[in-house]
Order: sequence, then structure tokens, then C-alpha cells
Amino acid sequence: MAIRNIREQGDSVLNKTCKEITAMTPRLRDLIEDMLDTMYEANGVGLAAPQVGILKRVVVIDVTGEDPYVLINPRIVESSGEQTGQEGCLSVPGKAGIVTRPNYVKAVALDMNMEPFELEGTELLARAICHELDHLDGHLYVEKVEGDLMDVTYDYDEEEEEE
Ligand code: ZN
Repeated sequence: MAIRNIREQGDSVLNKTCKEITAMTPRLRDLIEDMLDTMYEANGVGLAAPQVGILKRVVVIDVTGEDPYVLINPRIVESSGEQTGQEGCLSVPGKAGIVTRPNYVKAVALDMNMEPFELEGTELLARAICHELDHLDGHLYVEKVEGDLMDVTYDYDEEEEEE
């Protein structure tokens, strides 16, 4: 297990379309373990393979810090509602912006055993699924930001109401 270098905005690897994964291999297992370590080390809630320079369709997500999901070849099959809120990305350090996402999504993906499963999420989990899956098609949240990117304030008041 190891911490990998997180690629930042401007690195062309973040703008490419990732390839489908066809088989679980020791190398892929190592990649996924490293992605989880790298996400936790950086205090992120999600990480996609291109963010560590690998153009494969795999993401890791953990919005609570104790509930990790590994999604291989994920696809969103259902979404509804709308949420508007602050979003950031480990590849765009120190910044955040307001993005509107569905409030509910259902994704289908393969797990570490290459078995299909469904992941349903609302609120932050729905937002994280959308954000991470966008990475697999070369998109960053900054393309969807309403208004300007902001510098992250660590004393951000969670109770602040959105207009
Ligand atoms: Zn991101």
C-alpha cells in the first residue's frame, strides 16, 4: 500500500476518457488499495483513477470515513431531484465552487470480485458519485461551477443557508 501523487488541474491525464476494466488483477488490486490510502491521507471523500494518473474506470468513495465503496466500470442508471452546494476536488486544491447535482442517484458497478452491485445515494453520496464518475470521462467539477471558484475557508459554516 502506498500514497500516490495526486494529479492537479492542468495535467492532461485529467481530461482523458478512461478505459473499461475487464479483469481483476494484482496490479489493479494494488491500485485500488493505494487509491483508498491516498484519498484518506488527503481527507477526500472520493478519488478517481485518473487523479493518480491511471486511465481506468475505477473510483473509490467514502463520505463518512468508515464506509468505503469501490466502483469498477460504474454507470449512473437513475437520478432525480436537485441539490445545489459547495464542491471541491483533490485535483483542484484549496478551491471550491457551487455545483448543482441530482439529489439522488443510483449507480451500477462491479466490486473487487468483479461482481455487479448497485449503489444508491442521496445528498453528499449522490454528489460524490456524480463527481467521481465525471472524472472517468475527463471532466472536472470546475466546468459546472455556478459563479466563481472560491478559496476554501476551513471555518466554513455548515449551517449557512444556500440562496
Ligand atoms: Zn475530483
